[in-house]
Amino acid sequence: MEISTQILQQYFGYDSFRPNQASAVKNVIAKKDTFVLMPTGGGKSLCYQVPALALDGTAIVVSPLIALMKDQVDALRANGVSAAYMNSSMNPLEQNETFHQLKEGKLKLLYVAPEKLSADNGSFLNLIKGINISLFAVDEAHCVSHWGHDFRPDYLFLNGLKRQFPQIPIIALTASADEITRQDIIKQLNLQQPTVLISSFDRPNIKYFVQPKQSVLSHIIQYLNDHPNDSGIIYCLSRRGTEDMANNLKENGINAAFYHAGISSLERAQIQDDFIKDKIRVMVATIAFGMGIDKSNVRFVIHADLPKNIESYYQETGRAGRDSLPSEAILFYSNADVMKLKKFAVIEGNEEQSTLMLRKLQQMTDFAEMQKCRRQYLMEYFGEPHPGNCNSCDYCLSDFENWDATIDAQKLLSAVFRLKERYGKNLIIDFLRESKGAKITDYMRSLPTYGIGNNADRTYWHNLIKQLVINDFLHESNEEFSVLKLTEKSKEVLFNKKKVNLQKVKELAKAVTVAEIE
Ligand code: ADP
Ligand code: ZN
Repeated sequence: MEISTQILQQYFGYDSFRPNQASAVKNVIAKKDTFVLMPTGGGKSLCYQVPALALDGTAIVVSPLIALMKDQVDALRANGVSAAYMNSSMNPLEQNETFHQLKEGKLKLLYVAPEKLSADNGSFLNLIKGINISLFAVDEAHCVSHWGHDFRPDYLFLNGLKRQFPQIPIIALTASADEITRQDIIKQLNLQQPTVLISSFDRPNIKYFVQPKQSVLSHIIQYLNDHPNDSGIIYCLSRRGTEDMANNLKENGINAAFYHAGISSLERAQIQDDFIKDKIRVMVATIAFGMGIDKSNVRFVIHADLPKNIESYYQETGRAGRDSLPSEAILFYSNADVMKLKKFAVIEGNEEQSTLMLRKLQQMTDFAEMQKCRRQYLMEYFGEPHPGNCNSCDYCLSDFENWDATIDAQKLLSAVFRLKERYGKNLIIDFLRESKGAKITDYMRSLPTYGIGNNADRTYWHNLIKQLVINDFLHESNEEFSVLKLTEKSKEVLFNKKKVNLQKVKELAKAVTVAEIE
């Protein structure tokens, strides 16, 4: 038996590795840099814990989550692994003691909080120079990137890691990184020809629903009454919001508690523990809750307020159904929330960051508003192709009805034709909707098709274009600037009066409906 499998069984009690775990472990043991992208619950920890035990020396694990750090170290110790952590919650005496153990070579793993890295201008890295280090693991590695959704300046001290320790392998792990962030992590950490391991992000046992944010409280109470045996998390934007929601639920006889960063850490640990042990059924929380919480039977995650971006949304919904049983993610969506979040997204004096945050918010909004398989949108967001028709999101579970779109399709296609197939959808829509914008030339205005699409709004035309593209009535080129072009089928519509029959959602499937709202 291979040494790594032996370690897996002996220390962790599992029979076999998950596919990318095996590759990551092998790669790190071979002292090669490794990048691991795995969804929450995918099993990232073992990717560095097993090599830490297989290799000589101490593994240094950088992790931003103090609570998680302690849990991990406790769990490792319980399995007979000598591990320790260093963070700002320890007094100097304790830190010295840990450092002593480290020097003596008594630790297989040392967890370090990022603020330790930046303290005294990075002296920690100098301190460990004389120590036999097996590997560096950078958990939540997206924190090193400005492109990520959770940049942390302390992580910048990791830039110099490779230079100072060129022989020691680095394994970077994250559950949330789009393509640019991924590239940036590799660049920032200076990984040398890293093996990049990307696991599927799909969580087939989670159903996705988006509902209009109206009478949220009644809807949630109804949902909880409809699922009396289920436990789950409700996320709210503000501390105050969690308190109000939890109190309202309690008044309605529901076993709920609230959790946010304003509560003492002692109390938080207690609430968390009660939730994990099923003493609390519903946890109403801000995003402060959930990192590293391993409760397998979370049956639902409800977002009472809109998350800031898809990464957060996906990470939070990912806390449902770790036991692989059917679970639900429900998002209550309103435009008012978008407006509110827009204000938060703008950071004074940092235009680049603001633009990025606003773009991420826009993608979150697109997800909620789009008439398309939610799972497909999410998967594609994380760079993973998905065919759609997942049959387990509100869109795919809805009834569709036939829709004769011939007249509007004719308007649209003739606009494309009149404008000589030279423009993208935004200009075509401007043209149809009689825009007075500068991009519309006098010549365009003189055309008879100018303004014939005033009967409907932009969203409608956007959707129609999308539908026509999907059904081959239009072609959208994938060059830098997309251009709409006619197809054989569209010529049939324009010149031979062929009908355009499409489908639309009759009514979106819902996770919960309230018959009468008081
Ligand atoms: P992540 O850090 O990616 O969110 P964890 O490392 O916390 O995930 O692992 C998630 C859960 O999966 C844990 O309960 C862990 O014990 C379990 N797990 C990880 N690897 C395996 C494996 N090879 N076999 C069985 N269970 C595993
Ligand atoms: Zn779907």
